[in-house]
Amino acid sequence: MRLTVVGCAGSFPGREGPASCYLLTAEHAGRRWAVVMDLGNGALGPLQRHADPMSLDAVLLSHLHPDHCLDLTGLHVMRTHHPGGPASTRLPVHAPAGAGARLARAHGVTAPSSVEETYDFRELRCRQDFVVGPFRVTPFRVEHPVEAYGFRVECRGATLAFTGDTDACPELTPLMADADLVLADAAFVEGRDEARGIHLTGRRAARAAVDAGGVQRLMLTHVPSWNDPEVCRAQAGEIWPGEVELARPGMVVDLG
Ligand SMILES: [Zn+2]
Ligand SMILES: [Zn+2]
Repeated sequence: MRLTVVGCAGSFPGREGPASCYLLTAEHAGRRWAVVMDLGNGALGPLQRHADPMSLDAVLLSHLHPDHCLDLTGLHVMRTHHPGGPASTRLPVHAPAGAGARLARAHGVTAPSSVEETYDFRELRCRQDFVVGPFRVTPFRVEHPVEAYGFRVECRGATLAFTGDTDACPELTPLMADADLVLADAAFVEGRDEARGIHLTGRRAARAAVDAGGVQRLMLTHVPSWNDPEVCRAQAGEIWPGEVELARPGMVVDLG
């Protein structure tokens, strides 16, 4: 399983790249499968460097905040009006309830029918796993002001745990346990951001990964451009015993 960080800026696009978007690819049954986790503002641009958006196998949306889903609007235009012809199949989009209506509003239409001609929306349910080619995906309900999920993705013995946007919560333990890589929200800064129930800090992400047990690598992401990523790394390093990694746009990580 190959992870490509397409965008990792927190809350809005940053100077170096777009908001949340992670491409997962793996060879299976004679071809390369491609799944996108989140498609936040600006992500459809650089995604085209790494995969053909017309031939994605599925999109997973952690939640319906714009920095995680809004570029589905551009993908809808691409898949509908491409001069080479529209996409031949509806793209499965695994998302919280209401995704079709949410995207219809973004397009300025009242009914979700036009986006549902492009997308096959499938509602996420906590711990109800599903398979896309070589990937087994288990969503875990996490703590954020809207319905939000983290994704545990398993592929041929390798496990990636992506928290989406969340504060510390019990479901982080089964989400992260024994993962080869934890990709964790670290939008908040200890000592500055006192609100709870929204985001992890680097320190809280590291605590969750340590408590889950068996995690091999910790990578922080969703750092807004108004933060110093090195502060997030240092705060995680107070808890995490190994190297704390920082997601960067264009980064490629092979797992398994
Ligand atoms: Zn976010
Ligand atoms: Zn959010």
